[in-house]
Amino acid sequence: MAILDSKTPPGPLDKKWSNYKDNINLVNPANKRKLDIIIVGTGLAGASAAASLGALGFRVKAFCYQDSPRRAHSIAAQGGINAAKNYQNDGDSVYRLFYDTIKGGDYRSREANVYRLAEVSGTIIDQSVANGVPFAREYGGLLDNRSFGGALVSRTFYARGQTGQQLLLGAYSAMSRQVKLGTVELFPREEMLDLVIVDGRARGIITRNLITGEIHRHAAHAVVLATGGYGNVFYLSTNAMGSNTSAIWKAYKRGACFANPCMTQIHPTCIPMHGDYQSKLTLMSESLRNDGRIWVPKNKEDAKAVRQGKLKPNDIPEANRDYYLERRYPAYGNLVPRDVASRAAKERCDAGFGVNETGLAVFLDFADSIKRLGRSTIEERYGNLFQMYQKIVNEDPYSTPMMIYPAVHYTMGGLWVDYELQSTITGLFVAGEANFSDHGANRLGASALMQGLADGYFILPYTLQNYLADQIKVPLFSTDQPEFEETEKQVRSRLEKLMNIKGQHSVDYFHKKLGRIMWENAGMGRNRGNLQKAISLIRELRAEFWKDLKIPGEQNAMNTELEKASRVADFLELGELLALDALKRDESCGGHFREEFQTPEGEALRNDSDFMYVSAWEYNGDDNEPILNKEPLFYESIEVKQRNYK
Ligand SMILES: Cc1cc2nc3c(=O)[nH]c(=O)nc-3n(C[C@H](O)[C@H](O)[C@H](O)COP(=O)(O)OP(=O)(O)OC[C@H]3O[C@@H](n4cnc5c(N)ncnc54)[C@H](O)[C@@H]3O)c2cc1C
Repeated sequence: MAILDSKTPPGPLDKKWSNYKDNINLVNPANKRKLDIIIVGTGLAGASAAASLGALGFRVKAFCYQDSPRRAHSIAAQGGINAAKNYQNDGDSVYRLFYDTIKGGDYRSREANVYRLAEVSGTIIDQSVANGVPFAREYGGLLDNRSFGGALVSRTFYARGQTGQQLLLGAYSAMSRQVKLGTVELFPREEMLDLVIVDGRARGIITRNLITGEIHRHAAHAVVLATGGYGNVFYLSTNAMGSNTSAIWKAYKRGACFANPCMTQIHPTCIPMHGDYQSKLTLMSESLRNDGRIWVPKNKEDAKAVRQGKLKPNDIPEANRDYYLERRYPAYGNLVPRDVASRAAKERCDAGFGVNETGLAVFLDFADSIKRLGRSTIEERYGNLFQMYQKIVNEDPYSTPMMIYPAVHYTMGGLWVDYELQSTITGLFVAGEANFSDHGANRLGASALMQGLADGYFILPYTLQNYLADQIKVPLFSTDQPEFEETEKQVRSRLEKLMNIKGQHSVDYFHKKLGRIMWENAGMGRNRGNLQKAISLIRELRAEFWKDLKIPGEQNAMNTELEKASRVADFLELGELLALDALKRDESCGGHFREEFQTPEGEALRNDSDFMYVSAWEYNGDDNEPILNKEPLFYESIEVKQRNYK
């Protein structure tokens, strides 16, 4: 069994982080230059970590599979980033951001980590402004804020609908400065295929150059994984096409526990699916719920007529519209958290009130806001999102309501980490969406960017330093050691095995099939029977994959099908663990909705006495069930209650 020591520092909640920082071991500047850190991933979490650790003087090697760090999935983030600055003077505070995040996560995250996140949130904004991020400003020049789900205050900083892009350019600039100064070395188009462990510590990685197909070894004193989320296990999601689980999956198979794999976020406002050949879903940012009102027709006949194209939404009079979120949750209205909004949309569609040809959509309507604020204000706030919608759907959202439906968006699960962001493998740290740390069973909007940048800019520079302080006498490892040789051999033989299947079907054929199994059985509504079915269907599909996959091209050259195959092979294993975790968690919480466990109003029904823990799965060989370790959760500063957004 793994030992799950959260290493939560002692003392009052609001003093833990400063106590920790005051007492850690530091590394002197001359020694920093002798210590190497590998960072896999250069999205917001990885780029900010590389910039900060490089600026401290450590020698950093940063890897990504794209041709430039600027293409990391973080660039897609639209709506904004939370911070408890209380610029609006509307009652915000560090405690309130902490409270909202714990409650939003349905009491399944670690108190001390979340408090620290809220505590450092303000400095992220200062740091980003200093990096040149052009946040939206008010008339007087102060930074503007808007609201996001699960909060009654406006604390979200934004740059139109392109916040991730601007933040990433900021972190990328800071990292590039270190590249120029020689502390950070960049390795684009270099994919990590395995982790190397020497004497129980993470000491390196094996990578494949995606242009030449060459295999490389890299050694370091510590390894950081900042490799993003695994939502693409569902095939269709709002994630970038390349987002994958492979780096953290390989680490899991080398001994890092995988926490809460079933905790998946399904975002309520995405452009509905429109056909079998689709490979990607598009998000319409949660920020749109600041000004857009969600509704469906009140009468089934109207909904049917809309579906058949006989009635236009604008022809339905006000009295015949059901603004169901405002009706059910008057206090939060359209800004209830994502899990609540997604379930409510599904409930209306399942009951026959859905629109679009498929009946799987609801309206997001801006008519009232345009009347109140004028079209130009709406255009200023969300122009790029409206343009994107118009291009995809071929309808003008300024004059007719958008149609939206929930889609897979974010994974709260990831590698288990302690307070220092260290996994159960010594020397392996995990940051950003790749770890499980702060969002419990449901992440609040605009909190992923906050967490990724908190991890990279402000947490790892302390916690990694504390770890490295006792490594100063360890010289750089040679990659000639047997552990590197053996791991490289395993990587090569797996690639050969994939190439040699020489079957009939493409990688996408299997990925799509996996996605359908996952969505139908482990998606928005889960139950015991479906989850058991998912596990056996995934096992069958995995066997078929290893018998009937076809990869054209060469192994030792650029081969995008081989890249995808390797990632999908890992998804085919992760999917089973996700379903198993969902099966063992006999409760509903946040985005994990087990149909057997719901309140009379259809809300998630937790079972705190049996499930107030983080499930941390430990790999136990390919043919055995993984071991379930549990980190119990304690709430000392917060009263645990049934969530209520009414
Ligand atoms: C459409 C969309 C909109 C969003 N909007 C918001 C928002 O407004 N606010 C908010 O807070 N959150 C938002 N999110 C969530 C947020 O964007 C992500 O959670 C966050 O950007 C993840 O950052 P990251 O640094 O952890 O990972 P990523 O940005 O995904 O970066 C992963 C990095 O790891 C690298 N990598 C992965 N595997 C390997 C490997 N094996 N070898 C080498 N490199 C590897 C990649 O190349 C990349 O550099 C949104 C998400 C989506 C999908």
